[in-house]
Amino acid sequence: MLWLAVASQDAQRGNEVLQAHADAQLDEAGRRAASTVIDLDAETSECPACTGTIPQGSARCPECGLRFG
Ligand SMILES: [Zn+2]
Repeated sequence: MLWLAVASQDAQRGNEVLQAHADAQLDEAGRRAASTVIDLDAETSECPACTGTIPQGSARCPECGLRFG
């Protein structure tokens, strides 16, 4: 799975980068998986790996343990 963690102001750009990459290299399922961008400044975020809820400031997903940063 491909994903990015970016600051709030960069979230839109992150989406664009992921979309461009996905369109170039992935099939339809891959494009869906690559469409997740984590906003670490948001109150909560959705984990790109397990779709669990990640609290603000958390260094890893409490559901699956995916690390950020
Ligand atoms: Zn997770």
